[in-house]
Amino acid sequence: MFESLTERLSRTLKTLRGQGRLTEDNIKEALRDVRMALLEADVALPVVRDFIEHVRARAVGKDVLESLTPGQALIGVVRDELVALMGQANEDLQLNVTPPAVVLMAGLQGSGKTTTVAKLSRFLKERRKKTVLVASCDIYRPAAIDQLQTLAGEVGAVFFPSTPDQDPVAIALAAVESARKQFIDVVIIDTAGRLHVDTEMMAEIKRLHAALRPVETLFVVDGMTGQDAVNTAKAFSEALPLTGVVLTKADGDARGGAALSVRHVTGKPIKFLGMGEKTGALEPFHPDRLASRILGMGDVLSLVEEAERNLDRGKAEQLANKLKKGKSFDLQDFREQMQQMRQMGGLGALMDKLPGMSNVPDAVKQQVNDKEMLRMEAIIGSMTPLERRTPDLIKGSRKRRIAAGSGTQVQDVNRLLKQFDQMQRMMKKMSKGGLSKMLRGLGGRLPGRLPF
Ligand code: GDP
Ligand code: MG
Repeated sequence: MFESLTERLSRTLKTLRGQGRLTEDNIKEALRDVRMALLEADVALPVVRDFIEHVRARAVGKDVLESLTPGQALIGVVRDELVALMGQANEDLQLNVTPPAVVLMAGLQGSGKTTTVAKLSRFLKERRKKTVLVASCDIYRPAAIDQLQTLAGEVGAVFFPSTPDQDPVAIALAAVESARKQFIDVVIIDTAGRLHVDTEMMAEIKRLHAALRPVETLFVVDGMTGQDAVNTAKAFSEALPLTGVVLTKADGDARGGAALSVRHVTGKPIKFLGMGEKTGALEPFHPDRLASRILGMGDVLSLVEEAERNLDRGKAEQLANKLKKGKSFDLQDFREQMQQMRQMGGLGALMDKLPGMSNVPDAVKQQVNDKEMLRMEAIIGSMTPLERRTPDLIKGSRKRRIAAGSGTQVQDVNRLLKQFDQMQRMMKKMSKGGLSKMLRGLGGRLPGRLPF
């Protein structure tokens, strides 16, 4: 998300940063660039107008003009205003009620409601230690109920069965009752959507809302629909007292306009981003971190949180200790590093969150793709344990055997050995404290000894 916006804004802001003095002229020019960048990202026009007005008002103020580094100060203003636009801080789900807490999902057909029910169940189970029951009120498409049942099984949520001949409100009330009897913490009610906003659908979801009185009413919207997303969000927020928005398909949306407009237009916070089709692809929405990401400053905090969640601490410590004792980083370690990186969503997901990545040409980014990593893992998999510990042994005939075993070419094996050599050199520097010190400086609260 935000690839082109990030690229444009970082370019504009970089020119500003270099300037010792800001004049009305170069502020005007910078604001024009920012405006264009936002419009190109498909941010709604009234939102862009307000945003630029806010930034302009503060840019000509003395906090910016009299600052020793006015360019930097202006960038700070843009960042603050981006954060304000998206809603200051992350807004969590409000589930502090007498259980079961009821969550009602609303949105158009295909927006990702059913998928999001599964993602939320998993999120609540894994990170909040809640028990979850799900039920489908989508009686119009029998397959929709089966889809939820399958997903519920995948994420370990209790599935409350329903059939197409039942009334949606009756299903929902029975589901809540069943959850109450089983002492389940959260009930998520999946609903039907239509292709467009229509009065019948709105009447049904209003009826559900009135009967259930849910603590959370989440509007699910496909981020890739850009300006349309903003319009449907508006229609739903006028019909229902929404408590939050889930913006899905943010993974496929290079522009990201909806993420910047929804809050302003509906007054409702985005609570989560859907980042893929899998049930793990849900991220809490953090306006402050996203603002940094948009300005090309990266999102080190989210990266650290993911690392903390996904990296195998035991292995990390083992490796750190091994390196500290002066033992060298071998191919087995290399393979484990790659496996852990894959667990964190692959290189692409990592790179998006690193500062300064917007300056790296796409061609370079594409070189380090995840397929390449799988191939490298396969090559290492075809080596003997001795070869992994002592890569210097790998010469002509061994190389041919490894290539054949992993379905690759000898030059692939050579390339891997070269990359390994570079990585090993980097690890040597790192074990002297270089990288970990640098990361600590960046993140403020990075765990001590992560070996990446
Ligand atoms: P519903 O009609 O609102 O219940 O939508 P579904 O949950 O059935 O999702 C519709 C389609 O969108 C499915 O193919 C999902 O896999 C896909 N989808 C949902 N959320 C995301 C997301 O965050 N990213 C991507 N790439 N696809 C998604
Ligand atoms: Mg559905």
